[in-house]
Amino acid sequence: MSLATHPLPEPPATPRPSMVDGNALIGILEEAFGAATATLALTCGSCADASALSDSAVELAPTSAIVRCRCCTHTILTLRWSEHELVIDGASGQITVQRGSR
Ligand SMILES: [Zn+2]
Repeated sequence: MSLATHPLPEPPATPRPSMVDGNALIGILEEAFGAATATLALTCGSCADASALSDSAVELAPTSAIVRCRCCTHTILTLRWSEHELVIDGASGQITVQRGSR
């Protein structure tokens, strides 16, 4: 995937997601995984690269995020949230939680 800027102007109603790292998701994932969030490891379903959540590439939008593999940019997880729920869609990958850390 290229990060080159798109030549066409974006419609103002669709804010462009920002590229951040997995640390940006720790706050919202702590609601699901508690203190174990800091130890989460993600395994890419495409290239089998395993890395800490904090090292993953994240496209962050106001109420959703796409977590991509840092090696092949494959989508590992998609997250979306509202005031009432957090949905974690394991698009193609695994989340490993270290037990005993919460
Ligand atoms: Zn990968």
